[in-house]
Amino acid sequence: MTYKRILLKLSGESLMGAQGHGIDTGRLNEYATQIRDIVKLGVQVGIVIGGGNIFRGLSGMSKGVDRYKGDQMGMLATVINALALSSALEDLDVKARVLTAIRMEPVGEFYSKPKAIEALERGEVVILAAGTGNPYFTTDTGSSLRGIEIEADVMLKGTRVDGIYTADPEKDPSAVKFDTITYDEVYHRGLKVMDLTATTMCKENNLPIIVFDMDTPGNLIKVVKGEKIGTLVHN
Ligand code: UDP
Repeated sequence: MTYKRILLKLSGESLMGAQGHGIDTGRLNEYATQIRDIVKLGVQVGIVIGGGNIFRGLSGMSKGVDRYKGDQMGMLATVINALALSSALEDLDVKARVLTAIRMEPVGEFYSKPKAIEALERGEVVILAAGTGNPYFTTDTGSSLRGIEIEADVMLKGTRVDGIYTADPEKDPSAVKFDTITYDEVYHRGLKVMDLTATTMCKENNLPIIVFDMDTPGNLIKVVKGEKIGTLVHN
């Protein structure tokens, strides 16, 4: 196994599947199955999940919700997704623990690094919910932060595209995929891999990122085994 402890970032949007909103249970169960398969191999798995399928602070502003409260709503949305994922994992007999960045027992336990590490070492999947707990951040930044804190070997960003391209491949057919790219090149080319705060945290703390297509069953196991799929971002 190339990676023994990972931080997997799943966007909220990817959970909505084709239905365009909320949680698609087929997609959720498919993700849970891929996660179970790597847990069986002994990989320690921390997961940060987004909330964009339910609420985003910034887009809430256009509906008259103030940013601070909108971001709190967004963080709560990530907790809803975390509970759904933990339930799907438990259905597959995978132990999963939800740790929240905002205190809200008994929905989840309040996050601390030692609690997360202990659970990972017991072989439990740790779902790190409510982002960083602070408004004006994103779950990408939450992933960088938690990935660094839990001393993950790599951050795996599961998306619907199979890596980072010179341009958006869904809009520009001439876009070319990178197999590897440095953080600096991501900045210089203005590529939208993650927000800049998240990318900078990974760069400064030497946490490599692999962007890969999580919607193809079996891809997660390939990535943790070191198969060269997706795009590796490194220093
Ligand atoms: N959010 C926040 N602080 C954080 C993480 C998330 O305020 O540390 C809020 C923010 O409003 C964001 C929403 O939660 O829009 C959902 O997270 P995100 O947009 O990152 O979800 P994704 O795009 O991955 O679905």
